[in-house]
Amino acid sequence: MPTLLAALSSRLDPARLRSSEPIAPYTTFRIGGPADVMFEARTADELAAAVLSARELGVPYFVLGLGANILVGDKGFRGLFIRNAAKHYRFEDTGRLWVESGAVIADLIKEAVHRGWSGLEHYVGIPSTAGGAVWQNLHFLSPAPERARTMFIEEVFESSEILSEEGNRRIVGRDYMRFGYDTSVLHTRRDVALTVTFQLERGDVDVMQRVMQENLSWRGSRHPWLEYHPSAGSIFKKIEGVGAGRLIDQCGLKGFRHGDAQISHMHANILLNLGRAKAAEVRELIRIAQAAVEVKFGHQLQPEIGFIGEF
Ligand SMILES: Cc1cc2nc3c(=O)[nH]c(=O)nc-3n(C[C@H](O)[C@H](O)[C@H](O)COP(=O)(O)OP(=O)(O)OC[C@H]3O[C@@H](n4cnc5c(N)ncnc54)[C@H](O)[C@@H]3O)c2cc1C
Repeated sequence: MPTLLAALSSRLDPARLRSSEPIAPYTTFRIGGPADVMFEARTADELAAAVLSARELGVPYFVLGLGANILVGDKGFRGLFIRNAAKHYRFEDTGRLWVESGAVIADLIKEAVHRGWSGLEHYVGIPSTAGGAVWQNLHFLSPAPERARTMFIEEVFESSEILSEEGNRRIVGRDYMRFGYDTSVLHTRRDVALTVTFQLERGDVDVMQRVMQENLSWRGSRHPWLEYHPSAGSIFKKIEGVGAGRLIDQCGLKGFRHGDAQISHMHANILLNLGRAKAAEVRELIRIAQAAVEVKFGHQLQPEIGFIGEF
């Protein structure tokens, strides 16, 4: 894509533009063909500049966090893939935490707990940037032993500076975000979160450490380990009171394999890349699970992950 690269080189730092860059290594599934052009944004300003450049040039773009909730097609992405590596953050004495949207939640948890600020530790072990967390309203079950309710990142969200669909930068609050289960306004408007401000509370470091240990061991006993078994977490949306994974399991599909893609033995709502899985193989497994569940139970499984690029 020499023309697009040339057009972008005059607007963005050429040292961080790459053409025909494979996307797979930038996703937790480790799947996906090349992006025509990839740009690594290291500040919120660079992220905004990249998005505006793509809009002005009229080329498709995609803002990538940790790539933990997407499946990228084998043929890759036509246009500009913007990797959000804008990670600066700042704690205030009041518990406000301002972060650029590429900040990694795991890093923020470590720093917050170290400083005695509570609110993020529940999300330990979940791969996400701050932007990705807002995009889907990151959630996890409340602390052990009760685990009585689901906690959402919106509970500590205070505001966000967005680059709006219309192209202006402004600060928006919680109401604007229209948070829901696995969703926010970012699903329906082409706004980009440039920065996020969280409001944390004073917490007991020992209690936070305990929550983290319990959550990690809870996850470890139920979910395959990402370092060994690349995945995108849960593939299908929750079905209230039933559980998508349980339905797939009851169809006898745990461990079912298509090429190098497999329905996890541990959790049937998680599909794994056993090494060289293609996006097409994952899509086929998704289709097989959907068909089996529909025939046996009459439920239609809806994918939770985003399908990005050409398949
Ligand atoms: C092993 C594993 C376990 C998981 N467990 C959980 C869990 O317990 N709970 C849970 O809620 N999720 C879970 N997930 C899903 C995933 O972690 C979340 O969806 C996470 O928020 C994705 O963040 P990301 O930065 O990787 O976003 P990406 O996957 O890179 O992007 C996802 C979407 O967000 C958009 N986006 C990203 N940044 C921005 C931005 N700055 N502005 C606008 N849009 C943006 C992207 O364009 C894309 O559409 C899990 C995933 C894995 C792999």
